[in-house]
Amino acid sequence: MGLFQGNVRRPPSGWVNFSEGAGQSLRNLRGVLRRILLTLADQKWIYRIIVGNAIFRHMAFRFVAGETLQDAVEAARRLNQKGIFSTLDLLGENVNTEAEARAACQHYVDAIDALGDGDANNVSLKLTLMGLDISHELCMENMRRILDAARARDTFVRIDMEGTPYTQVTIDIFSRLWQEYKNVGIVLQSYLYRSEQDVALANAMGARVRLCKGAYAEPPDLAFPKKSDVDANYNRLAERLILEGNYPGLATHDEAIIEHVKAFVRERNIPLDRFEFQMLYGIRRDLQEGLVSEGFRVRVYIPYGNAWYPYFMRRLAERPANVLFFLTSLLGR
Ligand SMILES: Cc1cc2nc3c(=O)[nH]c(=O)nc-3n(C[C@H](O)[C@H](O)[C@H](O)COP(=O)(O)OP(=O)(O)OC[C@H]3O[C@@H](n4cnc5c(N)ncnc54)[C@H](O)[C@@H]3O)c2cc1C
Repeated sequence: MGLFQGNVRRPPSGWVNFSEGAGQSLRNLRGVLRRILLTLADQKWIYRIIVGNAIFRHMAFRFVAGETLQDAVEAARRLNQKGIFSTLDLLGENVNTEAEARAACQHYVDAIDALGDGDANNVSLKLTLMGLDISHELCMENMRRILDAARARDTFVRIDMEGTPYTQVTIDIFSRLWQEYKNVGIVLQSYLYRSEQDVALANAMGARVRLCKGAYAEPPDLAFPKKSDVDANYNRLAERLILEGNYPGLATHDEAIIEHVKAFVRERNIPLDRFEFQMLYGIRRDLQEGLVSEGFRVRVYIPYGNAWYPYFMRRLAERPANVLFFLTSLLGR
């Protein structure tokens, strides 16, 4: 067994019980819609239709800062004026050629230069964009280039976490990089059973963790199927990260969780600079600014670039109201 454990499998939970009332049926419907949207996120044929459509583009740009690096840097500067930090994410995943992976790597090196010195604005990236599907060595080489550039600027690189086929390999590559660089961090997802062990090991290493709920469609033998379990696990893991971790990033817009964290740190007199909240660009700006005014650190994840389709579908999947909003704007035309 490696530094981090393999996926912990649990038996599938029971079948859906439709007699549990309207609330349960609504949750089931949401779950079905979520899975449809997440499945569509991986379909190339629908991708082509959506990306070329002006209405979809308009809708997507609620969650995406723009298509160029300059759009993203301007968005970061606007957030900085409000006391909010940022992390830039070039959209794109699963590249198939070495040339694409190297181009994405060069883009990140340029982004780090454009952002300037210090960690107020840093970058997040996906290993599949760095060539993970092509070869681990290519991915490592690209990561070293980016981490060298970030080290020269005294800034930080966050490796996003993708779906479970990539969990272990992402952690393995992170662990290898950690031997050479301390300006790299990982993301762990509270919907995975294994994350409790991964958090404990990351804390023991002194690694910086971003905790999120998880955005992919995962099977019930790997991930909690019930939202209440995902949320409860989030609270547990957030507490461990705050007490034992290295400057964790608590990535959520969930007000109940945020209130839980606030109460937890208040009760224990934990200094507010020991962790940061993180949120997505365009989501709950009121909450982002409110937390800053209360003295909390907040970082906003700024996605940009023209490969916005899978990211957009994941955001729709998180909130059925977004789909309704989208359909009404379609009908209004
Ligand atoms: C900074 C950051 C980085 C992330 N990195 C990763 C990663 O590397 N890997 C990964 O798997 N996932 C990542 N995610 C996504 C995360 O896993 C969740 O899918 C996402 O944050 C929604 O979960 P939530 O905690 O906000 O809670 P939820 O229970 O989904 O939402 C709570 C409330 O937040 C608001 N909200 C949430 N999503 C939306 C939306 N799309 N539109 C409008 N309102 C919304 C609503 O008010 C909702 O009621 C990241 C999220 C953030 C904030």
